[in-house]
Amino acid sequence: MVRMNVDEASSLVDSLKRQGIVRSRRVEEAMLRVPRELFVWPGTEHRAYEDIPLPLDDTGQTISAPHMVAIMLEALDVKPGNQVLEIGTGSGYNAALLAELVGRDGKVVSVERLPELVEFARSNLKRAGYLDRVEVVLGDGSLGYPPRYEGPLYDRVTITASAPRLPRYPVAQLRDGGILLVPLGPPGYQVLTRVRRRGNSYSSEELLGCVFVPLVGEDGYGPGGLDII
Ligand code: SAM
Repeated sequence: MVRMNVDEASSLVDSLKRQGIVRSRRVEEAMLRVPRELFVWPGTEHRAYEDIPLPLDDTGQTISAPHMVAIMLEALDVKPGNQVLEIGTGSGYNAALLAELVGRDGKVVSVERLPELVEFARSNLKRAGYLDRVEVVLGDGSLGYPPRYEGPLYDRVTITASAPRLPRYPVAQLRDGGILLVPLGPPGYQVLTRVRRRGNSYSSEELLGCVFVPLVGEDGYGPGGLDII
């Protein structure tokens, strides 16, 4: 795999380490292995290692800022061999990092509601060499995947768009011992929330304030980010 700028990637990751954002060796190595320039929209490659979200063309969606990606990966504590559900594929960058973290024995399923981003993410993941470990699905991830199925399936669920409340199906699809992350709150300001399942009990903790685009779907926001449910 060819990285266009090793120096820029290292200096970004070093800065995230100094700030205490990248804390584990596993997340550090994953971020050094996945070339972010292969996942940003064409024409913005020169900004790939700035710690900012970048627009994904005119879809109104973004590839999240590296610090937010790292915060979520650290909070998710992904183990080798885990089955992971990501809701909000966007560029496919976070899915590639998850693929690094689960390794060859694990699996990442990532759901995206916009067909053009499904295509974009698949082609980025293919170029970067991760498509064999990541299944990108077109659909409404607010219903989990498969939609509405309630059996425990995933060790980790990460929702990279903001929800008005805990979406019930993704929570129901957590395996015992599983962890789910979701930014909860209205458009403009949310609280990154971590849910843990132990047996049949669920606990949640608020981690930090954040700003994500809305989770638009049947158990999310309506178009425009309005809570219509
Ligand atoms: N994880 C992405 C990455 O690495 O580039 C960034 C995700 S972006 C901040 C949020 C994504 O969630 C957008 O691509 C948006 O289209 C998607 N999204 C919003 N609502 C969704 C839903 N109900 N199901 C699946 N994807 C959804």
